[in-house]
Formats: sequence, C-alpha cells, structure tokens
Amino acid sequence: MKDVDYDVIVVGAGPAGSISAKTCAEKGLDVLLIEKRQEIGVPVRCAEGVGKEIEMLVKIDKRFISAEIEKAKIITPNNATIELSADKAGNEVGYVLERKIFDRYLAKLASKAGAEVRVKTSAIGLERENGCVKLKIRSIGEVEEVKARIVIGADGIESKVAKWAGIDTTLKLDEIESCVQYLMTNIEFEENTTYFWIGKKFAPGGYIWLFPKGEDAANVGIGIMPKMSEKSAKILLDKFVRENFPDGNITEIVIGGVPVKGAIETAVADNVMLAGDSARHADPLTGGGIINGMRAGYLAGITAYEAIEAGDYSASFLRKYDERWKNDFGKTLERNKKIQEKLIKMDDETLNKLARSLEGKRIGEISVRKLVIELIKNHPKLLWDLKDILLS
Ligand SMILES: Cc1cc2nc3c(=O)[nH]c(=O)nc-3n(C[C@H](O)[C@H](O)[C@H](O)COP(=O)(O)OP(=O)(O)OC[C@H]3O[C@@H](n4cnc5c(N)ncnc54)[C@H](O)[C@@H]3O)c2cc1C
Repeated sequence: MKDVDYDVIVVGAGPAGSISAKTCAEKGLDVLLIEKRQEIGVPVRCAEGVGKEIEMLVKIDKRFISAEIEKAKIITPNNATIELSADKAGNEVGYVLERKIFDRYLAKLASKAGAEVRVKTSAIGLERENGCVKLKIRSIGEVEEVKARIVIGADGIESKVAKWAGIDTTLKLDEIESCVQYLMTNIEFEENTTYFWIGKKFAPGGYIWLFPKGEDAANVGIGIMPKMSEKSAKILLDKFVRENFPDGNITEIVIGGVPVKGAIETAVADNVMLAGDSARHADPLTGGGIINGMRAGYLAGITAYEAIEAGDYSASFLRKYDERWKNDFGKTLERNKKIQEKLIKMDDETLNKLARSLEGKRIGEISVRKLVIELIKNHPKLLWDLKDILLS
C-alpha cells in the first residue's frame, strides 16, 4: 500500500504552479495540481507584459500573444518622453500575453506531462504527519485529506501555504504595490509600444502603464505605494484616464497587489517549497512576476524530484531550492529593491531634469537598468549613490 496519495501536490495553477507541476510530472513523479478557481487564468490580475526571455521557458504560441513590443516610452511629470527601442537583447517588455489563454496553456502542459489537474479545489489546511504532509482540500464543496511527500505553494500573493508551513513572507506596508488596471478600448496609442508614466504627479511610489492588447485596446493601469499617496490608486487612475483617454471605454477592471519586497531569506520549510508571488519572487522595480515565477516553478520541481529520489524532504535538503532561485534571480531582486527604494524617493523636479538630458536620444534597449546607467552618465552627482548597486 502506498504511504501517500501523491509525491507532490502543487497549490495554485498560475505560471509558477503549472511549471512546477509540469517539471515534477516530466520527472515521473505523481503530481496533483489544484486550483481554487473554477477556471484557470480568470480573473486576470496582471498587465501581461513579459520580456523576450520567456522564449527560453516556453514555446511561443500566437494564441497567447496579444501584442509584440518594439519600443517603450517613459513619460516624466513635465511630459518629457524618453524612448527606448527594443532592437537589442534583454528587453524589459517583449510581448503582451493573453493570460486567460496562457495560464490555461501552461496547465495543459502540466496535464500532458502527466499531472492530475483539479479546478475548484482549494487547499484549506496543512499538517505534517510521519515525515509527510496532510493537505486538507475542499473540492466542489467536499472536504477531503490528501497526503503527499512535498507541497509546492504557488498560491500567489495571499499565500496560505506559506503561513501554514511557518515560512516568513510578511509584507510591510511599503513592500506592496496597490494596483488598479482597466482594459480599455477606443483609445489611441502607438502600436507595438508600451508606455510608462513615472513620478509622484502620476503615481506616488510606482508608475502608470499602458500595455497594448491589439487594435485600439490596452491594459491601462497604476501601481502606487499606499503609504506615499493621499489618494487611492483608483482615484489617480481615473484622473489620468479622464485627461488622456476621454473617449475610452473600460471593459474590464483588475484590482490587485504586487509584492515588492526583494529576496526573502528562505522559501522552504520541512516538506514545503514556495514559488512565485507566494515567495515574493516578483521584481520590486518593475512589479513583473511571471518569468521569475516560472523559473522558480521549474527549480522547485527539479528540487522536489531530487528530494524524493533521496527520500529526504526536510528543510535542510530543500534549501537547495533556496540556493538555486537565489543564484538565478535573487541577486537581481536585491539590486532592484535598492534601485526602487532610491527611485521612489526622487522628487518630480529631479526626474524632469534627468529626462531633459535624455530627451530626443534613443536608447537601444528596453532595460530599466540601462536607463539608470544612462542617467548616471548624464547626472553623476545626482545618482552617484546608485553606482555601487548597479555595478554589483
Ligand atoms: C495589476 C497587476 C499587474 C501586473 N502586471 C504584470 C506584468 O505586466 N508582468 C508580469 O510579469 N507580472 C505582472 N504582475 C504580477 C504577476 O501577475 C504575478 O507576479 C504572477 O501572476 C505570479 O504568478 P504565480 O503563479 O506566483 O501566482 P498567481 O498567478 O497569482 O497564481 C496563483 C494561483 O493560486 C490560486 N490559489 C490561491 N490560493 C489557493 C488555494 N488555497 N488553493 C488552490 N489554489 C489557490 C489562485 O487562484 C491563482 O490561480 C502584475 C500583477 C498585478 C496585480
């Protein structure tokens, strides 16, 4: 008789969870992937922008691409525009996805690899028993217990798995961006271009974005640091939309938070690993979390396989996973957290001054890092303190 129902249970079928489940299943493990919603991929809580590096993680399929991005425009408080072209590698944004399709596609890959996928199934409690995990789940109203050797918590920003497992992922008030986004139609913008409005005038502690979603439609959203703003994200976005797209229609609203914490100390406990937003893997500078979530999902999957091969699911074995994600993107999280802390403190006049020096110049790569280096070249005194961070 088997001592467990599954080798691995993955909680949450977002990008991190589906890639974890796919990786484990491809290694021949018995995997259950559970998703609390009745449909994978909806509602979308994302602006859907990803860099071209996604091509290294999944084969691009036209069905989940809304737009391909060739350039980005950064607009400062006095409406100066810095244009960044994407003709070199390392793009900040290369595609705008259709996540309703993308997330389902990834879950299908997990299923094809052999994972069992169950929707409308929530994890509602976790206990450890005889070196394994007992996960309480509610599946279409029915409560049951399933046993596994390892649980991968890919249950997003509000992760319960992290709490149950005792992994500290607490977000302070200034470690979370509060976001509102409208899917808008009947608006004008340059095709294949993403837009970022920066500065306190637009979005204290964050930025406003426009990501194209095909002909005359786009995700227009705002992320702010609530502590830094007297007005709510929605009030600021409504004002922006009234002033810039008075004829636009709103066909969808997204409300959500993005963790901007930087690297956490550990994403593991006995029998448990966290991947993606649950482990605060989103980039603190851009708020992007899809690619890091997928990378973390893959690394958690590989580590789960090795742990099961070794018959050791202890936190000390699973720390291999911490090493792996930290080596992969942990340093970037740390560095971008420091840059974000400096940038959000910068006043609008300084941003205007910096932009004036770059106006009219084309910067050959959509990379925030490149942009900041360019700014330092122009304003060595103003940004000298960022030098060590950027060159580390
Ligand atoms: C407004 C906004 C705009 C964004 N824009 C971008 C962007 O342009 N580019 C980018 O890269 N990132 C963006 N992000 C961040 C990005 O959406 C996340 O980083 C990414 O979705 C994280 O993937 P994940 O798999 O970790 O979690 P999620 O995608 O959040 O998936 C977690 C899944 O777990 C499920 N779940 C939760 N609890 C349970 C439970 N108890 N039992 C079973 N299932 C459960 C949820 O229903 C969900 O499906 C944005 C976020 C917001 C809020």
